[in-house]
Amino acid sequence: MYPCDFNATTPLHPSVAELLAQLAKRHPGNPSSPHASGRFASQLLENARVAVAVACSWPRSGVIFTSGATEALFIAVAGKIFGAPKDRRRVLLSSIEHKAVISAVNFAAEQRGMQVDFIPVTADGVLDLERAADMFDRDVALVCVMGANNETGVLQPLVEVTREARRHDIPVLSDACQMLGKVDFSPSDWGADMYVLSGHKIMGPRGVGALLIEPSIKKTLLPVLQGGGQEGGLRGGTENVLAIAGLGLSVTLAQTEVQQRASEMVAARSEFEVHLQSLFPEVLIHGNGVSRLPNTSFFSLPGIAADDLLHSIPELEASAGSACQSAVPTPSHVLTAMGVAPALADQSVRVSFGPNRVHGVDLPHAAQAIGQQVAQAIGSAAQKLLSGTGVNT
Ligand code: PLP
Repeated sequence: MYPCDFNATTPLHPSVAELLAQLAKRHPGNPSSPHASGRFASQLLENARVAVAVACSWPRSGVIFTSGATEALFIAVAGKIFGAPKDRRRVLLSSIEHKAVISAVNFAAEQRGMQVDFIPVTADGVLDLERAADMFDRDVALVCVMGANNETGVLQPLVEVTREARRHDIPVLSDACQMLGKVDFSPSDWGADMYVLSGHKIMGPRGVGALLIEPSIKKTLLPVLQGGGQEGGLRGGTENVLAIAGLGLSVTLAQTEVQQRASEMVAARSEFEVHLQSLFPEVLIHGNGVSRLPNTSFFSLPGIAADDLLHSIPELEASAGSACQSAVPTPSHVLTAMGVAPALADQSVRVSFGPNRVHGVDLPHAAQAIGQQVAQAIGSAAQKLLSGTGVNT
């Protein structure tokens, strides 16, 4: 098997799996209960909050645990839009945001009768800063720009966005799910007011995530998920203590292991792309000319439908477009925003490598070997498909 869908989800880090197994034996109680098992649970919550805060150099009181990135994004987007002053009538978001952001913005803005404007990206998939600067003004309630795109892996100019947004006093939300554990993640240096993380993208548990929010803007959000007042009143509901403890450790490991993981992933990706280009000189690698996550290769093979290619290589786990959209037979909105024609978008496959341990190898240089093998598997499947349909290579 070639597990090359690391951007869709990741396996548990062995140390996280071990922690969860240990904690499950002790039954943490309800963190709101005053008895011993409740206190044990609330200590676990506190430890995880401190772990995330320390690993990300972020204030402890600004770490809000959620059921994942989608929920954290909704709390941030809807909370900010519903809580916005009356003169802030527009919401801006990059045209390559994840659907979790787009749908939260569309929903909340419609409720408030606000205008939604998409900031364009270049053909390489980078936010167009000039166009963004033209769109920023004092009537904007929120701007959403992700750190790295989940499909192309292209890194976004967050520092420049936040600098410009600050001139107009616009709060910035950044979906950072895909960056953590793959590239440097220094949220407090980058100037956004809110960041979102997801456990299952960083070798942590599923169904858990976090909103990092500047404590000063916390009170400007309308709490949209009320209940028992947990998580500073922003996310009511009994906390998933085990998963949160696992998240705390996985965020710490993502930050401490990032260089090692990145070097293994980029070795596999480089070898993969070199081989794929030698087998298929006409391959188009999206975002190839700009800074990308070290593990992601999103490419189009002209003449070969992505679904056919993936069906013909059952041992390859990869995505046609992003995993969240694979049930929807429309071309990737990310490629569309980059100006890629729908026919070519349907011929696009995302391969996203993990570190060596995800591929079950620990040998030096194993990453390169994996990259080569995956390129060869795709190459021979593609040749068969092309000859089967009579297309000339
Ligand atoms: N944002 C990005 C960039 C993602 O890649 C994903 C997952 O596909 C999400 C948000 C949603 O994350 P979760 O599954 O934790 O809700």
